[in-house]
Amino acid sequence: MPAEPLDVLRSVFGHAAFRGRQEEVVRRVTAGGDAVVLFPTGAGKSMCYQIPSLCREGTGIVVSPLIALMRDQVEALKQAGVNAAAFNSTLTGEEAGEIRRRMRAGELDLLYVTPERLVTEGFLDLLASCRIALFAIDEAHCVSQWGHDFRPEYLRLAALKELFPGVPRIALTATADPQTREDLIGRLALEGAEVFTTSFDRPNIRYTIVDKDQPRKQLLTFLRSRRGESGIVYCLSRAKVDATANFLNENGIEARAYHAGMEREARDRAQDAFLKEEGLVLVATIAFGMGIDKPDVRFVAHLDLPSSVEAYYQETGRAGRDGLPSDAWMAYGMADLAQRSRMIDESGTPDEIKRVEHSKLRALLAICETPQCRRQALLRHFGEAHPGGCGNCDNCLRPPETWDGTVAAQKALSAIHRTGRRFGAGHVIDVLLGRSNERIQRLGHDALPTFGVGTELDERGWQSVLRQLAAIGAVVVDAEHSTLDLGEPARAILKGERSVSFRKERKFEATGGGKGRKGEGRGRVSSGDPAEDALFEALRGERLAIAREQGVPPYVVFHDSTLRDMARERPETLDALGRVPGVGTSKLARYGDRFLEAVGRFMDENPQR
Ligand code: ADP
Ligand code: ZN
Repeated sequence: MPAEPLDVLRSVFGHAAFRGRQEEVVRRVTAGGDAVVLFPTGAGKSMCYQIPSLCREGTGIVVSPLIALMRDQVEALKQAGVNAAAFNSTLTGEEAGEIRRRMRAGELDLLYVTPERLVTEGFLDLLASCRIALFAIDEAHCVSQWGHDFRPEYLRLAALKELFPGVPRIALTATADPQTREDLIGRLALEGAEVFTTSFDRPNIRYTIVDKDQPRKQLLTFLRSRRGESGIVYCLSRAKVDATANFLNENGIEARAYHAGMEREARDRAQDAFLKEEGLVLVATIAFGMGIDKPDVRFVAHLDLPSSVEAYYQETGRAGRDGLPSDAWMAYGMADLAQRSRMIDESGTPDEIKRVEHSKLRALLAICETPQCRRQALLRHFGEAHPGGCGNCDNCLRPPETWDGTVAAQKALSAIHRTGRRFGAGHVIDVLLGRSNERIQRLGHDALPTFGVGTELDERGWQSVLRQLAAIGAVVVDAEHSTLDLGEPARAILKGERSVSFRKERKFEATGGGKGRKGEGRGRVSSGDPAEDALFEALRGERLAIAREQGVPPYVVFHDSTLRDMARERPETLDALGRVPGVGTSKLARYGDRFLEAVGRFMDENPQR
């Protein structure tokens, strides 16, 4: 008996209504049509193929690039009472045989498989002997060389169109990059598919970018205001990952390191701890994160500059999949820019690609330096209009003061010009501040008319000016030697034909934001009602106990958002509990009593509340 999509959404997943364009996609695919789904992270892409798989006859085949990701999804589906399995290299022969049997018997609703496995002859033969509900190609940007995660095996998935005519195919990705989007449609032979897009805005993520001053202290201050929450701290190098994790642990923040240089086993342990324990900080190179769909990552912090706006958006996008308030925090400085430029130049790629990479880096720099709404700037980069004034980025919350920097810009540019366009920021600033040293004397730079003309600003002030000039292209950082040269707009500024306005740097206050007193933290997710927060913590405790018993991550049992709703509603009956979003029939039967008891216990212990 074919099931109705809305019934499945409600009874299996416990959601009250479809979100955004989910329903359109579900209806199209359930009816047998192809679809390309371009939704941002957290929009609910999984429903778009899970529900049609349950509504159509046969098994839905989900192509997913990572085994860890599959494991989580299959576990979550089983908890919801869905017959799901993963077919991959970690199975024993016996387990694989059992899956084949269940496939042929039509007992599986969903089967997850890696692209390598899918295109093997043996697996294709198996599929040919079974009823297939649909093919879902998750993380479909992996098929494109433009994307960050190119996987050659994805290219072979185009063959599904010919091999299984009549079986609907749905490709999904959170990639916002137009080039990648176009590319994947062609490469997966999905020209006839209907394309579904939504806004790429992530309204629950707060963007903050600070001027790097004392990065570790700045990070510590940020993390102390987020105590008890899980998050990721990204660093560029393995050494820095290790050092940062140590530093945090020494300062009372529980952190684990994760990078490709670690033993496989240690890495898996760190990842496992991050998924299964609450409130852990993972310090990682960008190698970590893809395929992690932990929904309650409350913050993503960058101690180093990512390579592009696309990378920044993807990495920060790992925060707040559950829709609850989350933070994207970054500290960056002039040295990051030089380091990134150097990486591009040393990459050994053709000059044409290097030019593209440099321009991508400049686009990110412009977002770092803008005094305007960051969200608007980010979305504009992806070709999406936003009115600005989002109220949830640092620039909207505390509008930076600006100042007329035309004269300062002229001084800085002329110092670069007169010293021969071949010195780094430190030297140029020494000249501006009139700080003599052996090298300056040897070069005769203390005799230049610009020597000492810039005492109205201090070292940090000039660094900020140079960065902002780089953001508009008037200063060009030479990658190889981190030296500064002049760019096209410099001419007009020097001639007084163009004025520039600069953002005032904020002073970093290490003492602000709390010293980590006990009981503080809970960041911005707090309900504002202490009793409700206390009940939420109690429910979290119950959830953690269940998760440990079963060896699964807590969010597989219930999401934070579901526990938040429970804490607010305080259900007293199974019926009432079943109406809480995220509580489906299967989970109600499994865990209903335990959570009702937890609510009851809390009320008994806190009668005044
Ligand atoms: P994506 O793959 O697009 O990043 P997910 O499929 O992981 O997103 O879903 C993100 C979150 O949204 C999950 O916590 C999921 O349970 C929730 N969700 C999805 N659809 C709905 C819905 N219709 N109503 C409420 N919550 C939903
Ligand atoms: Zn804003």
